[in-house]
Amino acid sequence: MIRLAIQKSGRLSDDSLALMRECGISFHQSAGKLKAEASNFPIEFLFLRDDDIPQYVANGTADLGIVGENVLVENNETVDWVEKLGFGKCRLAIAVTRDSAYENVGDLNGMKIATSYPQILRNYLKRHNIKAHIHEISGSVEIAPSIGLAQAICDIVSSGSTLMSNGLKEVETVMQSESVLIATPNLTQSKKNILEQLRFRIQSVRKAQEYKYILMNVPNHAIERVSKILPVLKSPTILPLALEGWSSLHSVVREDEFWRVISQLKEAGAEGILVIPIERMVA
Ligand code: ATP
Ligand code: ZN
Repeated sequence: MIRLAIQKSGRLSDDSLALMRECGISFHQSAGKLKAEASNFPIEFLFLRDDDIPQYVANGTADLGIVGENVLVENNETVDWVEKLGFGKCRLAIAVTRDSAYENVGDLNGMKIATSYPQILRNYLKRHNIKAHIHEISGSVEIAPSIGLAQAICDIVSSGSTLMSNGLKEVETVMQSESVLIATPNLTQSKKNILEQLRFRIQSVRKAQEYKYILMNVPNHAIERVSKILPVLKSPTILPLALEGWSSLHSVVREDEFWRVISQLKEAGAEGILVIPIERMVA
């Protein structure tokens, strides 16, 4: 049995649980309960505040954890980074008041900067040789400048609309972050084996999300041209259609290349293009 710490309720909770379910792991989460055990995989979930996860994993109370890189770097606990998970993407940025004459990072010298990430900010300022005052607050950082508590803030940004509505503008990116799977150092061999099985499942779920299955009808003379457009795993599957001179061509395409590829396929003579999500992909 391996124990995985997940954020109890917050921005990472739903995606963390959804990932486990997509990995085929079934469990029942009762409201208010701190633990849940899976019924078909040797794993138990521990629901915690995200800030506590690095520490619990470092000291072995939990074997694994899912947490944002921002929290991980801030806490600076000794844990193994296993796998980036691709959700909870955000950045830690410095923002100043919109009317500020800010030009470059040197302008932060002497400023009072409010943040919940004093450690990360301290390192950032040090790297840039800036002497500023760090004012640590635990929440609602973005209102600090408007109440005169600070001239700048260092906080998490995903879209920028919160900054905007508080009269702030983003001026420096301090770090990019996404959720990561972490592990306690020195897992026992049997737990390492469970972790490997879990990783294998996570990787096939994530890979499947990156690709789409694509099928289309292609006149036989265009098969070669069409095949060249598709950056496939091995080579496309080609099946004859009942209609003389035409074939059905099956392949996979990366989600991020999708629109470019589709228009090229049409130009090359493909018709009746169907695109289907892939559930799992095992390379
Ligand atoms: P907790 O009660 O567990 O301490 P919290 O309020 O500290 O929760 P959340 O706001 O739920 O934390 O954010 C959890 C993590 O999600 C952050 O540490 C960060 O990695 C990521 N995150 C934060 N804001 C965003 C956002 N706007 N978009 C995407 N991911 C985000
Ligand atoms: Zn938190």
